[in-house]
Amino acid sequence: MSRVHNFSAGPSALPLEVLIKIQSDLINWDGNGMSVMEASHRGESFTRIAEKAESDLRLLLNVPDNYHVLFLQGGATLQFSMVALNLAKRNTIVDFAITGGWGKKAAKEASKYNQVNIVCDSKDVNYTTIPNESDWNKDSEAAYLHITENETICGVEYNFMPKSNHIPIVSDMSSSILSREINVSDYGLIYAGAQKNIGPAGLTLVIVRDDLVGQAAEDIPSLMNYKTYVDSGSMSNTPPTFSWYAAGLVFEYLIDMGGLSVIERINIKKSEVLYQYIDQSKLYYNPVNESCRSRMNVPFLLKDKSLEEKFLYESNQAGLVNLKGHRSVGGMRASIYNAIGIDAINELIAFMDKFEIKNI
Ligand SMILES: *Cc1c(COP(=O)(O)O)cnc(C)c1O
Repeated sequence: MSRVHNFSAGPSALPLEVLIKIQSDLINWDGNGMSVMEASHRGESFTRIAEKAESDLRLLLNVPDNYHVLFLQGGATLQFSMVALNLAKRNTIVDFAITGGWGKKAAKEASKYNQVNIVCDSKDVNYTTIPNESDWNKDSEAAYLHITENETICGVEYNFMPKSNHIPIVSDMSSSILSREINVSDYGLIYAGAQKNIGPAGLTLVIVRDDLVGQAAEDIPSLMNYKTYVDSGSMSNTPPTFSWYAAGLVFEYLIDMGGLSVIERINIKKSEVLYQYIDQSKLYYNPVNESCRSRMNVPFLLKDKSLEEKFLYESNQAGLVNLKGHRSVGGMRASIYNAIGIDAINELIAFMDKFEIKNI
């Protein structure tokens, strides 16, 4: 069977080149006579690729020397708790900008340990916009300000960097990391689950400024303390070796493509073409404020809801899969991460157009 175009929100498509490399490594990796999954994380071969993955990521994101790069488990969801336990003293104030369901979940976890101050919340407009920063209700004493760079479910992405006023900004970049250039030093901490734009599930990436590490209370589990990972090179216990290896291959692939400036240009093009098509259509629409539409997750609704099931069935038959929107929003969603090429976007638009002509 041939490959489909996979618009899944996560776990999501990986570059074919990377999959082929994994396939060729699988039985006998790096001349070891075994796969990477069977090898010690402390062995010479794995140590080498683990270090290279870190240095390649540092190169891609231009990570300054005073930031640590950590390879963790537990997904972005565990970071909702780890950030709270590591960056704020118990019961102190932490700021949250809520622009979608993920930020809301993150705030709920933090509220178990801290006083959460909601600086803005776009729930009353179904998370279709990012409220103006001039209207945010920030607390000048907050230990950090948490934002969700790209809200994967409703497709809302920041197009500006909030002002920090020396308060560290923590950003959940699970669905936007590596999609564009960023200035790491604008942030105190960045985290991302790997399964959207980095590699296979099971790995979580944390990039943290060094002065924010080492302040956690002594009584938290050691695997919840960033310092444990800093001190051990993320190997205090067995790391997710296969996911780390595969993420390293993705980093190499992105560097070979020309780095994030090239990737960003492609992502701008991909999303522009798709939004332009949706906006001129008589059948489909996207409810998100144009200034903060996501480049990675493009939700679209059908003006005639009764056609949704037919759309999903026929798109699936055409090899365009996983277009069903998140259950909390309904409709459709095309997640168009780095591994989705412009060819896939063009095929999707051609399908949507044919479907519209036939059904309207
Ligand atoms: C997918 C996602 C999460 C949850 O990630 P897990 O790795 O499954 O815990 C959190 N935040 C955002 C923005 C996401 O897209």
